[in-house]
This record gives sequence, C-alpha cells and structure tokens, in this order.
Amino acid sequence: MTGGSADIGAFLEALNFAALRHRHQRRKGRAGAPYVNHLIEVAHLLASHRVEDPEILCAAILHDAVEDAEVTLTEIEGRFGGRVARIVRELTDDPTLPVWQRKVVQVEGASSLSEDAQHVRVADKISNLRGVLTSPPERWSLERKLAYYGWAAQVVAGCGRADRGLLETFSQVHESGMTALQLERLAARRRGGGGEAQS
Ligand code: ZN
Repeated sequence: MTGGSADIGAFLEALNFAALRHRHQRRKGRAGAPYVNHLIEVAHLLASHRVEDPEILCAAILHDAVEDAEVTLTEIEGRFGGRVARIVRELTDDPTLPVWQRKVVQVEGASSLSEDAQHVRVADKISNLRGVLTSPPERWSLERKLAYYGWAAQVVAGCGRADRGLLETFSQVHESGMTALQLERLAARRRGGGGEAQS
C-alpha cells in the first residue's frame, strides 16, 4: 500500500465488509479457522511480496465474497469501484458449472486473467496449499491432498504475469508440501495400510 490514509481507509472498509459478510463461515480445515483469516493471509502474502496496490489488496480481501458470501459484483463496484469489481469478477468461478468443470476452467483460463488477478490467484493458492497441509479438511484422503496440489500447480503455471517473488514462494510451498505428502504416503505404506483411511 502506498500508505495514504485514503488507501488505508478503503482497505479497512473492505476488511470490515468481508469480516461481516463471511462472519458465519469457517475454513474447511479441521482447525475451523474463521474464514476471514484466509482473506487476511492472501492480502498479507501480496503486501509482503511488495504487491501493495491498494485496489489489488482490496480485491484480495473480497476475492471470495461473490462465490461464498452472496455479495454481488454491483455491490462491490458501488462500494469499492470498477477496478476492484473487475478483479473479483475474474476470480469468481461460474456458479452454474459443476465443481469439476470450475476446476478445468481455472486451469484453462489462468493465462487470460489480468496481471492484477493473477497476483491474487497465486497468493490464494499459496494460502490454500498451506491450509491443506496444516489443517486439511477432515475427510480428505492423502490422494485428494496430492490431487489438490497437482491442480493448484496447473492453475499457477498459467499465471506467468504474476509477481515473480509470489511465484517463487508458490514453488517453495508446493515443493515442501509435496515432500511432506510423499513422506506421509511412504509412512502409511510402511504401516501396511495404504494410508487412505488414516489420512
Ligand atoms: Zn480464497
């Protein structure tokens, strides 16, 4: 952020708005963290890689609002302006598609995202990869976690215009996560159970 009080004011307004609209939601992970923690983490990842444009940071805070909190793009545009709404629109999956197809669209559409949206998409995936490892959803098998890692890498492979540092962080988080998951698989095999039920 450039640090002007108007910028900080807009960012805090987005944060307050998102906290309110996502207030009944928790992350899918077994820790059940408040949803807003994820939004703050995504914005923090951007800022700590010096992606400090206030409108991109607002879009980061609002990136799941349409998909998960029944906020409309018109509302976002009215409160936060056209550019923030455009970035959020790019990052919102089409709700009429089945989940598997939304995943395909994210891979196929990644390279057509604007640079602004690619920054947020990569930060979002970093946050999600961390979550899968540190607080996975209760019923996710090891194979499902590995599949998520594979899919996230495919999406990010299309985000070549995202900030270089963010892309490097994604690679590091992906690599260390894959190592941990492969070790988990190995340990499960040694126990002789194949690991699926336990993970
Ligand atoms: Zn997200």
